[in-house]
Amino acid sequence: MTSPRFYSTNHETDPVDLAHALLQGQAGDRGLFMPDRFPPLGPREPAQWAEWSYARIAAAVLSRFTEGMLTPERLAALCEDAYDYEVPLEQVSGRQYLMRLDQGPTASFKDFAARMMARWMGALMQGQDGELVILTATSGDTGSAVAHAYHGLARTHVVVLFPIAEVSTRQRQQMTTIGGNVTTIGIEGKFDDCQAMVKRAFADPALAGIRLTSANSINIGRLLPQSVYYVYAYAKLARAEAGEPIIFSVPSGNFGDMMGAVFAWRMGLPVRQLVVATNANDEVPIFLLTGKYEKIVPSRVCISNAMNVGHPSNLARLVDVYGGWMDETGRMRTPPDMQRLRHDLYAVSISDDETRATIKDAHTRFGTVLEPHGAVGWAGLQRYLAEHPEDNETLMVSVETAHPAKFPEEIQAAIGLDPPPPPSLQGLEGRPEHYPVMSTQYEPFRDWLKNDEWRRASSE
Ligand SMILES: *Cc1c(COP(=O)(O)O)cnc(C)c1O
Repeated sequence: MTSPRFYSTNHETDPVDLAHALLQGQAGDRGLFMPDRFPPLGPREPAQWAEWSYARIAAAVLSRFTEGMLTPERLAALCEDAYDYEVPLEQVSGRQYLMRLDQGPTASFKDFAARMMARWMGALMQGQDGELVILTATSGDTGSAVAHAYHGLARTHVVVLFPIAEVSTRQRQQMTTIGGNVTTIGIEGKFDDCQAMVKRAFADPALAGIRLTSANSINIGRLLPQSVYYVYAYAKLARAEAGEPIIFSVPSGNFGDMMGAVFAWRMGLPVRQLVVATNANDEVPIFLLTGKYEKIVPSRVCISNAMNVGHPSNLARLVDVYGGWMDETGRMRTPPDMQRLRHDLYAVSISDDETRATIKDAHTRFGTVLEPHGAVGWAGLQRYLAEHPEDNETLMVSVETAHPAKFPEEIQAAIGLDPPPPPSLQGLEGRPEHYPVMSTQYEPFRDWLKNDEWRRASSE
């Protein structure tokens, strides 16, 4: 079977192969790339994978998409190299588990996709001329994961925009202390401003001389690797040969993580229900409830800061999977099948108070340490269970997306405990930080890009 091709959600450009989709980031018509089919998992595959390593499962899942771009051997080697850390599945209570995606080098789940995508792009840039500029907006964790994943990679330069007042000190230090081919810019605005500047740059003919691509989750390269851990959790925990169903709860902001679960589901994983938990940025839960979509501008500031998103960039993909069309401005041109969407997804918004109470409760009752994002997911799952007691014995996996030590103030306040930082977060304080500061005005940023100032910044 040949690999899928990738069409644009706006349907105004021709489908491309994965290599083009990766290097382009966004389709020429400003739509998002989607696979034209989901290569199915074999009926017995997850059952056969129960003893496999994460890297081996990743290669087995992703090879269905990378055929023609990488040999299976090359892909397997890249997976071994990218996934050299643990993926703990922690039993919390009965059939309820927590999947900790926080053991990578920057201690958030974003390492999973950033590390794979960087290796894919590195392989594609080998033997090509010129330099690829990876432009990325971050609400906290994308920036460091992407910067870390591409650091030192030949023929690439990373430019990260972050909202100065909305990221934690540790998150900032993780990006601004790297240097080399990584340039970080502090923006005096919100995450949505950073995202808007990046999107404008992609569409700007004045920047045609620079080979720009995105490492935000608008890039399909960020989504494919995020389907793997759902398959992994299922292979490890489920009675797979009996086709046991599973429920996932995913704390969501831009809905890239959650789209990974949708992809795995479409590939044939027997998912019963997807719990999608947001913080007070509840535009998606309200959309599912009312059928009306309205962005939240400005986005609301919550303690789960990586989910402070008022207009999720992957919503267009979700709408597409369910037969609708949302354009790049967020306008719903064709509504999706709302009935099926409501059937498949249980969307819920969790307040900061409830998030804090959940951190406390999970610690008191189970000795589990959650951070604010994972707590939103866990609280979402508990809400679902309260409404669906019949699912009490169903296998459930809630996703913990960051390491608690990234949010020491919140954890300290909730449970009086200082989670010890993993080695990757240690020693950041002593390192010098470098980052220019810019306003949310687009033109100075464009000129900065156009005049290759990022290249000068890197040689300092
Ligand atoms: C980015 C991020 C999220 C949200 O993921 P999306 O794919 O944007 O929905 C949740 N938790 C943490 C810790 C993150 O860094």
